[in-house]
Amino acid sequence: MSEIISKAITCPKCNQKSTVDLMCSMNTESDPGVREKIFNGSLFRWKCKKCGFSTRLQFPVLYSDLKRQFMVYYIPNVERSCIVDEKLEKEFAELSDIRKRVVPTINALKEKIFLLEGGHSDLAVELSKLAVAEVVSKSTGQNVYEGYCTEINKEENSISFQFFLGGDHRSYLQTTRYDVYKRSLGIVRQYFNETDKKKGFLNINRSWAREALKRYKTTE
Ligand SMILES: [Zn+2]
Repeated sequence: MSEIISKAITCPKCNQKSTVDLMCSMNTESDPGVREKIFNGSLFRWKCKKCGFSTRLQFPVLYSDLKRQFMVYYIPNVERSCIVDEKLEKEFAELSDIRKRVVPTINALKEKIFLLEGGHSDLAVELSKLAVAEVVSKSTGQNVYEGYCTEINKEENSISFQFFLGGDHRSYLQTTRYDVYKRSLGIVRQYFNETDKKKGFLNINRSWAREALKRYKTTE
């Protein structure tokens, strides 16, 4: 099922023309090494054969892990809250229970893969992240630019987030109790159970969490 597209590319440094093979669609069963390539960044790296100039390419990637029943669609800078791809919906009609997400950045792609393959609820993680980000913002006096969950450890009662703060996006690690996630999970199960099964690829991010929390507070 992996799909490779050849594209013409001109080196921005030496103007050498060449073609590059972009892996736009992949699944973990037929492309077992692809997960590592995403996490070490090599999937997106391009190097000019003539002058050695290296850069990161931006192109959409559809990552499927059908064994663990999820798909993550990376569309650079996507802002829409939901993407419905009729062709894919048809192709995977028998897999209606599959969780489908769309993400705007490579960091978010990695976070979703990490969460969904671990069987965690990314909805509950987003709700937790929003709450923890508010605490971090108050204690540091800086805006939280973005944040990613890096570890969930039930046994040690911890959940960790890497935040990026202020205008210079300074990295800031915050660990809190797993109970925060557990509480969010309770809210998700009670109020947002249907969200997981929705048609299309959902953009479960900070905006979703803000909106969800607003709805939760008005129903409480
Ligand atoms: Zn070059």
